[in-house]
Amino acid sequence: MIFPTTFLHLILLVESFLLFLCVRRLRDTGDFLLREQKLQLKASSTQKTSTDFAIPMIYVVTPTYTRPTQLPDLTRLANTLRLVPRIHWIVAEDRNTTTKPVADLLAASKLRFTHLAAERPHELIGKVIGRGVFNRRAALDWIRTYAEPSGVIYFADDDNSYDVRIFEEIRQTRVVAVFPVGLVLKFGISSPIVRQGTVIGFFDAFLGGRKFAMDMAGFSVSVKHLNSKPLATFPAAVSWLEEGFMRSLEVEKDDLEPKAESCTRVWVWHTRTEKAAEPKLQHLQGFHC
Ligand code: UDP
Ligand code: MN
Repeated sequence: MIFPTTFLHLILLVESFLLFLCVRRLRDTGDFLLREQKLQLKASSTQKTSTDFAIPMIYVVTPTYTRPTQLPDLTRLANTLRLVPRIHWIVAEDRNTTTKPVADLLAASKLRFTHLAAERPHELIGKVIGRGVFNRRAALDWIRTYAEPSGVIYFADDDNSYDVRIFEEIRQTRVVAVFPVGLVLKFGISSPIVRQGTVIGFFDAFLGGRKFAMDMAGFSVSVKHLNSKPLATFPAAVSWLEEGFMRSLEVEKDDLEPKAESCTRVWVWHTRTEKAAEPKLQHLQGFHC
């Protein structure tokens, strides 16, 4: 069967038109995919900026000393901190040199960290007075030298328990932020008392003439404020660490910034790990296969 040339031309024309439509569709799909990819890239880079650069660094200072529960306590804390963006963990050992088990734990944590050790003056070795003082001071020295001025400092003991929400409260600290701490002494809580957004006092089982009756885990300080108070430090005085440090920061009660929903939430607890036995080598002697 022979088609007339005009008919063949007509079929060719229709086919060319269909081909043209296909090519156009392909081009539009390509453009659409490119646009989507660009949008996604933009979104992920915004996310990266917000986790990596746009939010203040929190310098979490953990004083620690060699005790049987040290490694499990630090492991728990490392696991919590891994959930929080922009953390720099300063682990300060209360002894003359850093120890390998702690160094190994820090390396394995994959966190951004600084490992310090601070020797106590000879006359205070083994004494209650000076516990956790010189290692916290070493962390303050490090912060004054190296910390980003937009950062925030938080003193996180190794054996406490932290809800990750507390870190986002801490991150907003302008001068000194305060919030409740659970499981403190016989009241079971230590908290600032807030009226109309202002701290007017403290609820704490140990007032003892303190102006700032707070637990170490109940406040945070901006690096900027610390840097503006070169004499701010921890005193070597039993039960007076928080009070002495707050006074040295030269702030007043009504300067304090209440956090954790106006101090109505407990997002950190002063838990204490039960004292564990020290494993002794002689206990292995009776072991037989
Ligand atoms: N700490 C320290 N040196 C000491 C005793 C304690 O660095 O000689 C640290 C300890 O590891 C913890 C914090 O100071 O991070 C508070 O100590 P602890 O937990 O023993 O006190 P408590 O919670 O019982 O008041
Ligand atoms: Mn403790």
